[in-house]
Amino acid sequence: MINVDKKYDVIVVGGGHNGLVCATYLAKAGRKVLVLEANAALGGASATSEFSDQFSVSSCAHWLFQLNPEVASDMGLKGHGLELAARDLNTIALAEDGNHLTIGVNTLEGAGVTDEDRKAFAAFNKQMLKFSKLLSGAFNRRAPKLVEGNLTDRITLAKLGLGMKMLGKTDMSDLMRLALINIYDVMEENFENDLLKAAISLDSLLGSHMGPRSPNTVYGYLYRRMGDIYGFNGPAVVRGGMGAVGEALGNAAKTAGVDIEVSAAVSKINVDVDRATGVTLADGRVVDADMVVSNADPKTTFNKLVGLTNIETGVARRVKTIRMKGDAAKLHIALDGLPDFTGLTKDQMGQRLLIAPTMDSIELAFNACKYGEYSKAPAMDISIPTIHDPSLAPDGKHVMSVIVQFAPYELEGGWESHKDNFKNLIIERIADYAPNLKDKIIASELLTPADLEDRFHIHGGHWHHGEISLDQILTMRPFPGASQYGTSVDGLFLCSAGTHPGGGVMGLAGHNAAKEIIKRGKSA
Ligand SMILES: Cc1cc2nc3c(=O)[nH]c(=O)nc-3n(C[C@H](O)[C@H](O)[C@H](O)COP(=O)(O)OP(=O)(O)OC[C@H]3O[C@@H](n4cnc5c(N)ncnc54)[C@H](O)[C@@H]3O)c2cc1C
Repeated sequence: MINVDKKYDVIVVGGGHNGLVCATYLAKAGRKVLVLEANAALGGASATSEFSDQFSVSSCAHWLFQLNPEVASDMGLKGHGLELAARDLNTIALAEDGNHLTIGVNTLEGAGVTDEDRKAFAAFNKQMLKFSKLLSGAFNRRAPKLVEGNLTDRITLAKLGLGMKMLGKTDMSDLMRLALINIYDVMEENFENDLLKAAISLDSLLGSHMGPRSPNTVYGYLYRRMGDIYGFNGPAVVRGGMGAVGEALGNAAKTAGVDIEVSAAVSKINVDVDRATGVTLADGRVVDADMVVSNADPKTTFNKLVGLTNIETGVARRVKTIRMKGDAAKLHIALDGLPDFTGLTKDQMGQRLLIAPTMDSIELAFNACKYGEYSKAPAMDISIPTIHDPSLAPDGKHVMSVIVQFAPYELEGGWESHKDNFKNLIIERIADYAPNLKDKIIASELLTPADLEDRFHIHGGHWHHGEISLDQILTMRPFPGASQYGTSVDGLFLCSAGTHPGGGVMGLAGHNAAKEIIKRGKSA
């Protein structure tokens, strides 16, 4: 709760995981911190909700696979109650005839894979992880300015340069070449197996407005593989759903002395002569502070909370041009029992399941989004968390959580009249792989990107609060001039997935923003 007798040093707008991480580091550094969260629960898009009587699900993000280990340890997440119900899961690329492909960290099984495929996969993995490791050196620190950078920036750049050199001639030129082409071509260069090519392609673009032939998809894949560098050998299922991450972080923040108020929407970041002075809540209360840190995405922060009249025209233009079209929806299904997926055991149903038969099918699905239509054959990433964590549903019942890629935020004609059709289409599509699915359904809920925007206050419902692409990373994230967490408004900082290094439940945007604020001192 807000302590009216306290003069806060910092107000963090938003109790998403990055906001909570940032708040905790700041409090540990001696700042008096208040977190104001619009929703009733903490965690932002790392959330659990009951979507049907006694059936709960991770209502946005559903896998933990990128959480930075330094952040997890600094926050003491285990001690604050975070438990994994399963980890290091395989990915199974589903085939309608049951001849599925199982992809482990370094293993391939099924779907007619040959020794050649396995060798090519091992070599590809080795190279990708080398590149992701190189990038990771720039992830846990602020993005270096290229021109007027100070010593810290020069050290980061020197490390990156040295890392590039250490790759050796072949890998260095490969990295530069691959970063500029697309995952489709890279897959064609490396593999024969359609399911494998499609699964890797899907990982390169999940949550983005891209198809396998889009530039930047190779970067998207390296970004996804950052989880491997952070010690994940595949996705993990959080006990109690992803909302448990928000709860544990909330406990960490409170233990560090942070005051938190939920159901406390901020309607305005108050600015006086180019300096942030605090916030006004939707209920009219005004809270002053020396500094405001926004965990809301950059477009929401500037367009809605600061107001375009309070920023320079150039900055307003940069905010406008941030690319962040969400193409991912969520489907939640309450099940009377486990459906029978052709060719899968119960243990296999507990792994990460993908529906993405070929790269061309993904590209065609993306084509629909380009023209404001939903795909009639969307790609999917499916989790049945109750196989590992029965607490989410009544005894013997299950929930299915599906990330559905290729449902545009701005659907031609609006979502209201199309939502049921789209939901039925997705269910029919899953039933191609699990023929008795429809007999098991008790209830279902579809969250379109527009619903995700409403529920989690993320502009466009975008996974990363802004596309992860070469023109929007490092010093270009979220836009030049706001790339080191500070903004053109003194005392206003950003800490969301929209800042460097980007989204996913990773914690580094919150970590880096806090370190930067601490470094700049109380007068920043
Ligand atoms: C469909 C989908 C599936 C995803 N799946 C995964 C996955 O499986 N694994 C994974 O790692 N990542 C996944 N992601 C991405 C991940 O969820 C996000 O990148 C991450 O949660 C962003 O964290 P954040 O703290 O930066 O922002 P958020 O989680 O968006 O938190 C921002 C917080 O600010 C609050 N807020 C905003 N405006 C205000 C205001 N005016 N007043 C008060 N509070 C405010 C919001 O309510 C929210 O709580 C997925 C994303 C989507 C859209």
